Amino acid sequence: MKMMKALVKANPTEGLWLQEVPVPEVGINDVLIRILRTSICGTDVHIWNWDQWAAKTIPIPMHVGHEFVGVVEKFGENVHDYTPGDLVSGEGHLVCGRCRNCLAGRRHLCPNTSGVGVNRPGAFAEYLCIPVTNVWPANPDIPLEVISCFDPLGNAAHTALSFDVLGEDVLITGAGPIGILAAAIARHAGARHIVITDVNPYRLELARKVGVTIALDASKSSVADAQKQLGMKEGFDVGMEMSGVPSAFEELLASMCHGGKVAMLGILPRTEINWGTVVFNSLTIKGIYGREMYETWYKMTAMLQNGLDISPVITHRFDYTDFAEGFEVMRSGRSGKVVLNWDV
Ligand code: NAD
Ligand code: ZN
Repeated sequence: MKMMKALVKANPTEGLWLQEVPVPEVGINDVLIRILRTSICGTDVHIWNWDQWAAKTIPIPMHVGHEFVGVVEKFGENVHDYTPGDLVSGEGHLVCGRCRNCLAGRRHLCPNTSGVGVNRPGAFAEYLCIPVTNVWPANPDIPLEVISCFDPLGNAAHTALSFDVLGEDVLITGAGPIGILAAAIARHAGARHIVITDVNPYRLELARKVGVTIALDASKSSVADAQKQLGMKEGFDVGMEMSGVPSAFEELLASMCHGGKVAMLGILPRTEINWGTVVFNSLTIKGIYGREMYETWYKMTAMLQNGLDISPVITHRFDYTDFAEGFEVMRSGRSGKVVLNWDV
């Protein structure tokens, strides 16, 4: 049996372990990808920490990871569109293909998704095997480390493009990697003011690098202060919740204009919200899960070809053997995206 290196959740405790596991079997509809770069997601940090969510979700032992770029190594007999060596990334949500939404072409709304590196073996490995319907042909003109971030960039693009932002005032709560990526996209898409909030000075500084109007420290000042500073007479037209923190979401709801649109990516705990604000201010709230297959992927490529620059968000690079350092810096909060190199 051919073996490969992989970052395995081998024990139900904190950490990941670099181990040898079998190279996956390639089914007739599958593509085997040789991994070149991966990036670390907040989800991977939950898995590392082995929090309550991870403990009830992740089967062990299993290798994890879902943000990747690589080249086609080989494929099954039903696959006709790829050649060995093609540069690819891939959608980490496997959909059923048979439900009403899948059949109607709304695959991002499939209720039966299974996640690469969450429910099935992941991309933190020398090889990843996924169905051809999940493979995205990557543009070789885009830097490898940028393509390795297409999954979170896709979360950001799906959220930021959910509502029209041209000429609009945008409030983003949470300057994590995805919040900052969403700010870069809102800027690219022609927003007027972009206010982003966080409580982490390192991340607020990163957000400034992608051209936000105000990066606001929510522990020191309020969104209302920012509105005053900008001379805004009404609330924000578009809100994006990307912190997962109830108090941030409450402030966002209270800062929207009448008829404002809110896209929610952040995963909040069960929380009370002021429904009066939602009703009397005629707010629209849209939940966002994953990326649209594959319109979001198309738009990401097109925006990157047309001047969207996400390079400031990629702050650290390590060889995969130094993965522990990569996770350490992610856990410290003093990072944007952390990329691991598997092509060593
Ligand atoms: P992250 O945890 O790196 O970012 C969250 C940021 O919120 C952090 O920088 C944190 O300092 C900041 N924050 C903490 N308290 C705050 C406050 N009071 N006000 C404003 N900001 C505050 O996460 P990420 O990877 O950038 O992802 C953003 C969110 O989206 C997370 O909640 C994550 O779980 C969620 N997520 C959802 C999907 C989906 O498909 N819906 C996919 C990926 C991530
Ligand atoms: Zn489905």
